[in-house]
Amino acid sequence: MARSARIGRIEVLNIEDYAPPPFDPPDFFPDVPLEAWEAHRSHHALDENGKFRVSFGAFALISDDFVAIVDTGIGPSVPEMFGGGEGRLLPRLIEAGIRPERVTAVLNTHLHPDHVGWNMTDGAPTFPNARYYFSARDYEFWTGEGVLSDAPHIPAQAQPLESLGLLELTGDGDEIAPGVRALATPGHTPGHQSFLIESDGEKGVVTGDVLHSRAQFTEPEWCAGFDMDKPTSIATRKALIERIVVEQLTVAAGHLVVDANIGHVVEIENRRYWQPLL
Ligand SMILES: [Zn+2]
Repeated sequence: MARSARIGRIEVLNIEDYAPPPFDPPDFFPDVPLEAWEAHRSHHALDENGKFRVSFGAFALISDDFVAIVDTGIGPSVPEMFGGGEGRLLPRLIEAGIRPERVTAVLNTHLHPDHVGWNMTDGAPTFPNARYYFSARDYEFWTGEGVLSDAPHIPAQAQPLESLGLLELTGDGDEIAPGVRALATPGHTPGHQSFLIESDGEKGVVTGDVLHSRAQFTEPEWCAGFDMDKPTSIATRKALIERIVVEQLTVAAGHLVVDANIGHVVEIENRRYWQPLL
């Protein structure tokens, strides 16, 4: 099964940080009745025990011109609510030949704790030569009154980058590196962004948390409990899936399980399905 794909001159490589213990599906998708999952079990949306699994991790985008990391996982020490283990992103990046000094850009899809966990390590930027890219809208939201006090990961993993002068704030369509552009995909969080990749005529997208389950390619109206604005997240998901199909994008969807989180969307008898790269 594939951990990487090539989009023109850009290699997309998945690196897992941590796999939390599997969830009972309604704990993750509170509005989706358990029976509704049955039709998707044959498409491997649940594991053999009927549980829902996710991965926390990152995608490295590697070209001759740059090394970018999209999201930085949950971080070295995993909170109890996700199993209390140890995140492994940094040692695994190094194993893959990506020393932190080589990374030129860190792109955060949004500022939830499972996406910014390795932005900083022991109070210093984990990637010392990188600039860090947050969506302006998400950063404004998470640092706003009444939000910040409940989000200790923001002063730990986000705000120091501003003080250090390493932060770039992005908006829809901004080019971050040659062939990599921000795409506003709000709903999961107010300023959630995905990243479009285009190189030598080939195209792809790193979706972030536009979706969490492969079943959502077929059932775009299903929302994760963590989706903050559900109607907006549904509209965003439908629009992005349409674009994926029309433009035949290669998709990197980080929360899908490892070895099956890079792939394409196929249409069979007017329904759409996730097809991981083999
Ligand atoms: Zn997430």
